[in-house]
Amino acid sequence: MREYETIAAISTALGESGVSIIKISGDRSKEITAKIFKQKSNKDFLDAKPWTISYGHVVDMVSEEIIDEVLVSYFKGPRSFTAEDVVEISCHGGRVATESVLNAVFQAGARPAEPGEFTKRAFLNGRIDLSQAEAVIDIIHAKTELSMKSALSQSGGKLSQEITELRNQILNLLAFIEVTVDFPEEDLEFTTGQEVSEKLRGMLLQVSDLIRTSEEGKILRDGLSIAIIGKPNVGKSSLLNALLRENRAIVTDIPGTTRDIIEEYLNIDGIPIKITDTAGIRETEDIVERIGVDRSKGKIDEADLIVFVLDSSRPLDQEDKDIIKYIDNRKSITLINKVDLQEKMDLQGLDLGETIGVSALNGYGINELKKRIKDLFFHGSIEVNDLMVTNRRHKEALLRAYEKMSAAKSAIDQGISLDLAAIDLNAAWNYFGEITGDTLAEDLVDKIFSDFCIGK
Ligand code: GDP
Repeated sequence: MREYETIAAISTALGESGVSIIKISGDRSKEITAKIFKQKSNKDFLDAKPWTISYGHVVDMVSEEIIDEVLVSYFKGPRSFTAEDVVEISCHGGRVATESVLNAVFQAGARPAEPGEFTKRAFLNGRIDLSQAEAVIDIIHAKTELSMKSALSQSGGKLSQEITELRNQILNLLAFIEVTVDFPEEDLEFTTGQEVSEKLRGMLLQVSDLIRTSEEGKILRDGLSIAIIGKPNVGKSSLLNALLRENRAIVTDIPGTTRDIIEEYLNIDGIPIKITDTAGIRETEDIVERIGVDRSKGKIDEADLIVFVLDSSRPLDQEDKDIIKYIDNRKSITLINKVDLQEKMDLQGLDLGETIGVSALNGYGINELKKRIKDLFFHGSIEVNDLMVTNRRHKEALLRAYEKMSAAKSAIDQGISLDLAAIDLNAAWNYFGEITGDTLAEDLVDKIFSDFCIGK
């Protein structure tokens, strides 16, 4: 195992709470803790047994003044989160208690952990691979139970296993090719080529199955983004409220709530949904309004789905028609709102794609809308026990690996030399390795961990 400095950080959220946990990892964890931790039993913490919890006080190293009353857990490496010696101090919550204990730990010789450094060590020490490490952060950020379940399955190593198997199969093919190329006089090239091509056919199917899960996977991880559009007073805000009434997702950060754009998170049967109520997208000369309009248009361009709202109690007008052009060629659902009122709208001759009659006011049709949204993006029921690719980086690596494997297969099928196919297979092997982190450049690995929070 590599040697690292001993690091420490607060692993729980800072704020008023019952308990906070300070995590320490590295060869000197125990020794550092022993300097500031006085056990109630008067035993020396240096003699503590692994995987036990001790009770006592954290004291100032110099004055021996009591700082806080704590419980201390000791995990001996490699059977710990980082695979190093880990100590976790559970102290009182709240900023003052937590930071005082952390400062005592720093004084005793630990240095502040960088964002994601604990998980990075678990990766560098070989306890988990990169895709598992990335899943740890997805668990923390999971927006619904379903997203959580899929992240948990990835952190358990399901994706890694499949990728490792694919890499091994490629290695076997490469070995096979090498033998053939080394003994050209045996005239094996033709039969070997056929066999390799056949194996590649099966593997390509396997990889494309994985890639196919990524549309659903991305939605589970990042949420489906929906933009509600329509002219003023058709019922956009009422619709958003009707959806939020039962399905508001519990999220801590709702960014981007501005005067002209409202964003909310919904949870529809486990699918996290980010829904944007775009105020105006009409043409305007007013500079301030123009900025709002541009921002709304940006949101519409980014959205996975557009929900276009019409007011059925008023005749269709030019403003409605101007907005209709935004749904051109996009995944969209048109809502004919206010069906509880007398109908005054004639939609004949208009191509509006899927339409649903709703009343945002009394909730009529809202369930139908949710069902259609689900059907549009998830085929059948959502079963996250199956392997799902949720991370865009993984998807891109899979696409590149697929490309190289197909290139290898066509080279073989066209009777081009096996040597050339081997180069492509090698590249595919490397791309797969980027997912597990085996072949990813160090700076890219660093970048991934720097997006983590401190203390994880
Ligand atoms: P927005 O400007 O598109 O966001 O529209 P609002 O949601 O503010 O709705 C405009 C007006 O239409 C409000 O007075 C709503 O109460 C009313 N409204 C919205 N949906 C319905 C509906 O389904 N039926 C009826 N009768 N009124 C509705």
